Amino acid sequence: MRILGVRNIVAVLSIILPCVADCLAAPGTNLRVSVELTDGSVIGGSPVTNQLKLSMVTGDVDVKLELVAAIQMESNRNARVLFRNDDKLSGRLSQDPIEIDALLGRLKIPPDVIAVIKVNSGPVKKSGIVNAQTEARTRNRCVSNLRQIELAKDSLATETGLVNGTLCTWQDLKPFVKDIDRLCCPAADDEQRTAQESYEIIPIGVDATCKICPKTHKLTGPAF
Ligand SMILES: [Zn+2]
Repeated sequence: MRILGVRNIVAVLSIILPCVADCLAAPGTNLRVSVELTDGSVIGGSPVTNQLKLSMVTGDVDVKLELVAAIQMESNRNARVLFRNDDKLSGRLSQDPIEIDALLGRLKIPPDVIAVIKVNSGPVKKSGIVNAQTEARTRNRCVSNLRQIELAKDSLATETGLVNGTLCTWQDLKPFVKDIDRLCCPAADDEQRTAQESYEIIPIGVDATCKICPKTHKLTGPAF
């Protein structure tokens, strides 16, 4: 059996430990940081405070870590903060030391031995994707409702010979859509969860509109 040398084990652990620390980071906080030290060590964990104080030429600012991509330390505690929106700030880190909950417990890391602090934005990005997916689902369901209203208007116009521009009511459309009163925009608040509060029928020949999100919930093509 091949036995790993101490050097190999240390090399393997140095790769694994930061990942494990990242997974074990303190509950209740979404933020994870990976702190690279000047000697090449990397420590992963959860920051004890979610903001750092930065002294700038314009005065002191509290930098929220959730907005930060990375903080590069330079000499004399000077730091360059790269934000997730690509903004950059330079200033002096007045916090001493940086505390993180890591695999080996709470560590206090003096800024002087830090090379880079990388802030893991994974959870925030994920929630952004989730939000986008939820928004798309909401929009699709609303557009589907708008299509049903348009279909009902078409049927009503065909059956009763209404010409374009004729106004119609929810009562007129009732025979053509099942439970039309219950159609509502999924983005509506509880008190707006009725067809009348959610949608504007608009005259025959013009697409119905969503009153809740009129800019994004709309029929772009012909109803079918
Ligand atoms: Zn809508």
